[in-house]
Amino acid sequence: MSSTSRQYDAVVIGVGGMGSSTLFQLAKRGWKVLGLDKYDIPNALGSSHGSTRIIRLAYHEHPSYIPLMHRAYDLWRELEITINEKLLFTTGSISCGYEGSSMFSGTRYACDLHNIPYEILNARETNKRFPGCSFDNNILSVYQPNGGFLRADRCISAYLSLASDLGAEIHAREPLQTWKSHENGIEITTPNGIYNTSRLIICAGSWASKLV
Ligand SMILES: Cc1cc2nc3c(=O)[nH]c(=O)nc-3n(C[C@H](O)[C@H](O)[C@H](O)COP(=O)(O)OP(=O)(O)OC[C@H]3O[C@@H](n4cnc5c(N)ncnc54)[C@H](O)[C@@H]3O)c2cc1C
Repeated sequence: MSSTSRQYDAVVIGVGGMGSSTLFQLAKRGWKVLGLDKYDIPNALGSSHGSTRIIRLAYHEHPSYIPLMHRAYDLWRELEITINEKLLFTTGSISCGYEGSSMFSGTRYACDLHNIPYEILNARETNKRFPGCSFDNNILSVYQPNGGFLRADRCISAYLSLASDLGAEIHAREPLQTWKSHENGIEITTPNGIYNTSRLIICAGSWASKLV
């Protein structure tokens, strides 16, 4: 490979849910991009791999997720139209816990702050509506009608196939080992050699702290 073919506008490290969508979005904008994953794509070790993942508008962790989630819903719908395939199934979702728990109170707070529709269900109502649940009396649920699930592996493979069609290079089993910035960009090293890039985007999930 010549040295010029190893120069990229962006190198994305980690090709899970975050990395695959990043590669597509950048390739769509005409960027020359390279995606690297240390394992197979997909692999069973990352946190977005597997057949399904839950999606909902309000997460208990912080209300600041909600604008991002509105955008995510729009992008999943856009992807469904592009590939003519259903990826996001809206089934309704419940976030359950004791009244003072962060799961219950954090979700309700986030819904209130951003006017997200929800219902509060007591344990009896939850168990009746969702026969798979068998909660104790003191468990409360925040039911979000917009919640559901994504076909996670299919989402990743769809984004990667579209990104490849747009010219993205994607290498499995090629870990980032080291990176350093210099005056013209960033140099990264893998077992296969050296790449230069204007931007380095770390989407390595729980491995990210080892790389930054
Ligand atoms: C078991 C589990 C279930 C979850 N369920 C949900 C859910 O239902 N709904 C929800 O919203 N969230 C859920 N989460 C959280 C959510 O899945 C994650 O936050 C999200 O998927 C992370 O995606 P990611 O692309 O950042 O990371 P990952 O999917 O983990 O991808 C990181 C990738 O980086 C690669 N990598 C690591 N180091 C290197 C390196 N040096 N060089 C190259 N590649 C590297 C890895 O191989 C991996 O493929 C769950 C998390 C877990 C762990």
